[in-house]
Amino acid sequence: MKPTVLITGANRGIGLALVKYYLSSGCKVYGVCRQSSHDLDASGAEVIQGIDVATDECGVLLKQHLHGVTIDLLINNAGILRHETLDSLNFDSMLQQFQINSLGPLRVTHALIENLQKDSKVALITSRMGSIADNGSGGYYGYRMSKAALNAAGMSLARDLTPRGIAVAILHPGFVATDMVGNRGDISPQLSAERLAQRIAALNMASSGTFWHSNGEVLPW
Ligand code: NDP
Repeated sequence: MKPTVLITGANRGIGLALVKYYLSSGCKVYGVCRQSSHDLDASGAEVIQGIDVATDECGVLLKQHLHGVTIDLLINNAGILRHETLDSLNFDSMLQQFQINSLGPLRVTHALIENLQKDSKVALITSRMGSIADNGSGGYYGYRMSKAALNAAGMSLARDLTPRGIAVAILHPGFVATDMVGNRGDISPQLSAERLAQRIAALNMASSGTFWHSNGEVLPW
């Protein structure tokens, strides 16, 4: 049986590169997004549109679409980055980042918990900007705080899913040339996807809850 992979934020950026990677590896891929793109439509993934991870409704919709489907790998990739400084705090924008970056992955994982089985894996695409120890430059209040909260959720998920035999990876993709960073970045989405897939392949119950850079380095909390 082909492994089944579900990826959020699948219409562009790292999510789209992950879709293509897992399809080329012979997996069945569900590409989840708010609105599809030409590239996602052309990829061969089964597209599930209309999923806004900031809304509680997304859980209901995903359950409806995926009733009875076993998911071997759930990749929570959707996210946003906003730029707050101490002089320009915007609490609405910070809350929006929490809704999407922190609560979104938890909503999706919770909604699909019955679709996961022993040996399924959950990957959270976080950021090293959520590392408190690694924060050498400040700013980005909403993004940093929301990714730190995601990391905390990731560790609780790792603990709570251990009895079910489901491992959780907390993954920084690298500095990746996508829209999020104005297409700057050290690596391409394709290379990031390959590296993330390597980390996910190596993930096991013993390493569940580890915060990794996609290059294999373990990151500090
Ligand atoms: P992009 O901006 O290229 O893509 C973001 C994706 O998230 C899009 O598919 C977008 O969909 C989706 N998304 C945003 N908001 C929502 C929402 N409310 N509901 C559902 N989907 C949503 O970013 P990247 O590909 O670079 O980022 C992917 C992940 O990697 C993010 O979690 C990001 O924080 C993380 N990351 C990226 C880094 C980088 O250097 N690029 C570095 C560290 C972490 P839509 O088209 O509908 O907006």
